[in-house]
Amino acid sequence: MSDAKETESRKLLGRLRDTMAENAAGQARLDKIVALIATSMQTEVCSIYLFRDAETLELCATQGLQAAAVHQTRMRLGEGLVGRTARSRQVINTANAPAEKGFRYMPETGEERYSSFCGVPVQRLGSVLGVLVVQSKAERLFSSDEVYALEVVAMVLAEMTELGAFVGEGAALSARHQQPVLFRGATGQEGATEGRVYLHEPRVVVTNPVADDPEKELTRLQEAVGELRVSVDEMLNTATTVNTEQVQVLEAYRMFANSRSWLRRMEDDVKSGLSAEAAVEKEQSVARVRMSQSGDAYLRERLHDLDDLSNRLLRILTGQGKETGAEMPENPVLVARNIGPGELLEYGKALKGIVLEEGSVGSHAAIVARAWAIPLVIHAANVTTEALNGDPILVDGDQGIVHLRPDENVKSAFRDKIAMQARAQERYATIRDLPAQALCGTTVSLHMNAGLMADLPSLPSSGAEGVGLFRTELQFLIRNQMPKRAELSALYSRVMEAAGGRRVAFRTLDIGSDKVLPYMKPNDEPNPAMGWRAIRVGLDKPGVLRMQLQALIRAANGRPLSVMFPFIAQLQEFRDAKAEMDKALEREAILGYPVPSKIEVGAMLETPSLGFAPDAFFQEVDFVSIGGNDLKQFFFAADRENERVRRRYDTLNVSFLSYIEMVVGRCAQAGTPLSFCGEDAGRPIEAAALAAIGLRSLSMRPASIGPVKHLLRRIDLSEVKSLIIEARTRGDQSVRAPLTDWLSQHM
Ligand code: PEP
Ligand code: MG
Repeated sequence: MSDAKETESRKLLGRLRDTMAENAAGQARLDKIVALIATSMQTEVCSIYLFRDAETLELCATQGLQAAAVHQTRMRLGEGLVGRTARSRQVINTANAPAEKGFRYMPETGEERYSSFCGVPVQRLGSVLGVLVVQSKAERLFSSDEVYALEVVAMVLAEMTELGAFVGEGAALSARHQQPVLFRGATGQEGATEGRVYLHEPRVVVTNPVADDPEKELTRLQEAVGELRVSVDEMLNTATTVNTEQVQVLEAYRMFANSRSWLRRMEDDVKSGLSAEAAVEKEQSVARVRMSQSGDAYLRERLHDLDDLSNRLLRILTGQGKETGAEMPENPVLVARNIGPGELLEYGKALKGIVLEEGSVGSHAAIVARAWAIPLVIHAANVTTEALNGDPILVDGDQGIVHLRPDENVKSAFRDKIAMQARAQERYATIRDLPAQALCGTTVSLHMNAGLMADLPSLPSSGAEGVGLFRTELQFLIRNQMPKRAELSALYSRVMEAAGGRRVAFRTLDIGSDKVLPYMKPNDEPNPAMGWRAIRVGLDKPGVLRMQLQALIRAANGRPLSVMFPFIAQLQEFRDAKAEMDKALEREAILGYPVPSKIEVGAMLETPSLGFAPDAFFQEVDFVSIGGNDLKQFFFAADRENERVRRRYDTLNVSFLSYIEMVVGRCAQAGTPLSFCGEDAGRPIEAAALAAIGLRSLSMRPASIGPVKHLLRRIDLSEVKSLIIEARTRGDQSVRAPLTDWLSQHM
């Protein structure tokens, strides 16, 4: 842009800002703004159209068109040149508007007299709020400088107004972030909840879109970019041993941070009068539009990187940290792109619901949400862009649906649903102290999964007989340094006390895969789920395992103790781990600590190989617990965190059930107790199938015990077994359809 044009643009922005700061009524201010733009751009017409609802645009102010058309003229998204600008989120610039495809003649505006048209989307961070239009009689194309100046003005409009505030009573309340939005995602954890949005990474709030002193503003921008580059370099330096994926992301960050064209575009924005922050947001908006329109997954990811980087830059400029000071609302529903188990644990149980853009059912963050019975919806596309802190939100974990800023009808239907669920919970409470005895007389013992002290209070209220899986790594994940032996022993002792003499199967540390300790050096592994994790780490670097075993023995303090090792793939691993336990017992006895009155040492069966271990394994091990989450991913070679492949394979697949039945047989032959502690144990239909093929012990999240028991008490397991055999004989892939059918007829 030429110097003269830049000065002109800055003048206009300055006047706009003054107008916006005036204490006039909303409509009067909007009228003044269009007049200002028309004068400055030397066009006969300037109009602002805003969204009335998600589909309709309304003329809200005009200089040049008939005044009577204001708040009367409306068009649908995509209709006419204005509607097309809004839909494509791109500028439409034409010298002969009536000749354009889709031109709509609106007699009430007197529009036909104007030939040239330039429509610019008014958008904030990728969401369109409306359209700014200039028109003139002369048949001419607006120059690129003029279009650019309009884009800058549109940016300021979007930023400063939250436009809804500008229109009067009953007129279009168009601010995009005020409308109800429905998201269709997928179920991560069932349950319904009502609350308010709490953004995991809140957006930075920009309060000064127009700058007085462009020179000073340029320096601020350049310094901030310099700081950003240094911080990205630092991240890369410390990340050399981190997994390759993270390095790739950081490399992309570095590329963007050093991109001349990115900086040049922002510098141009600043020269036209925008503040450094507004310039960053303007370019971020452009990138978001491209992101939503790109069919190329790789490009979309890179644009996501640029988006993250822009947020970082905004934080540097505004001095706002990750915490923008937004208070956690009452009944907070966490909204995030994705979240790791450690970060989720930091929020604690205060959360009422969780909504993620990405995420997967098999991830440990989902497991934490399940353990806490917090409704979780995953794959809610764009929710982080739409949601604002404090927005009302309804999470329907059963359907995988989220209502953001719901209207009254939706709210009341939803409240009915919550009340119905509460009644179901009351029903389950009435069978809490009864056994999970099926009609055929078989009893299945139901246990709960836990990992934190906070989980233990659910033990008596859920009706669980004990803790079938205590994931000890969760305690490690919530800290920022390695816990000490004395701390661990005190903690395990409290767990045993809270269990009140009921059995707790402590699973030794399962670190690796998606569970990364912030204070341990991460490994550079191409496939961490199949990498150096769990017992593999414990045996190769036994320091932490030994400390943990000592802490457990001390915590037991002469009481019975159950310990199981995760991810045992072959007999020798079990033997080596068991030898560590024997050594620990010996050492503790020498040191004078009481040894447990009874000790059980078990193995988790999470890899198909262990089912084919020599008989000696089943004879030597005190108990086996099937970790169905990992077992399933390795049985089908389908990543538990990758929704696309995970969903392809049903737990009720006949081959998978046959494999488990074989394990049941091998354990029975050796007289070894067997249980199943993967997430599937907590799903009533899956639980029924597992019981039918011979499992007599299931461990699940506490909230599942009621529904599972309720179903088991109403069915005959031998009939379920017959259905499985028939399905297998027929060559069905899964037993789900016949089983669901049968249940619906017999319940
Ligand atoms: C499993 O794999 O089924 C299991 C219970 O362990 P985790 O989910 O903690 O990997
Ligand atoms: Mg596992």
